[in-house]
Amino acid sequence: MSSGSAAGWGESIAQAAEALRKARHVCVLTGAGISAESGIPTFRDALTGLWSKFSPQELATPEAFARDPETVWSWYEWRRELVRQAQPNAGHLALAELARRVPGLTLVTQNVDGLHQRAGSQGVLEYHGNILRDRCTVEQIVAERSEDTRTGLPRCAACGGLLRPDVVWFGEAIPAGPMTLAAAAAEDCDVFLSVGTSSLVYPAAGLAEVALRRRATVVEINLNETDLSPHADLVLAGPSGQMLPALLQAMS
Ligand SMILES: [Zn+2]
Repeated sequence: MSSGSAAGWGESIAQAAEALRKARHVCVLTGAGISAESGIPTFRDALTGLWSKFSPQELATPEAFARDPETVWSWYEWRRELVRQAQPNAGHLALAELARRVPGLTLVTQNVDGLHQRAGSQGVLEYHGNILRDRCTVEQIVAERSEDTRTGLPRCAACGGLLRPDVVWFGEAIPAGPMTLAAAAAEDCDVFLSVGTSSLVYPAAGLAEVALRRRATVVEINLNETDLSPHADLVLAGPSGQMLPALLQAMS
């Protein structure tokens, strides 16, 4: 269904724009692809250079953090700096604008960088948390930090407990609130946009399946073909920073 020709694209964009114009509730799922276009390395790409000798299991699991919080924090501080330096791109901005043009829009993201919020999107459902937030490991709530001058590790300003990045690590559950709201949105939507996600990681990958079962129009925007591509109603093969603005333009 995807087409490499400009004519094929144009037709798919026109059809997707038509579905969006009629939509009552749009559900959007975004993944690493849209952040990569802002220069944020994917999880795998963040294991390069100095960090190439580490495996994800050594940096992004509760066990790794318990064993060696200094190393885990070093990796996260480096990634936080990359996120702070990045800017939302045309795709992020287009999704914020799309929310203003349709009656209802639920934005679910697997990204932890907060770029959707910085682009102006509201009510973003963060499936994997937010790398810029700290969470108290004792109270299990987002917390203010105070530096521990003895160890250099960040501590909770309220209770003194060790802080960790407020992200979902391997072996941890998706936060219940975002997961429930995202599942409800996938059930309810009439258009589902899958943007820059490999569609491989569950439970996020299951959202598109719910939307397909509910006969929503499923539109995939991705550089490469994914497991979802053969099932999607429309496939826009290209960067989201080009495809999403083109979609908006085709809507007006
Ligand atoms: Zn605390």
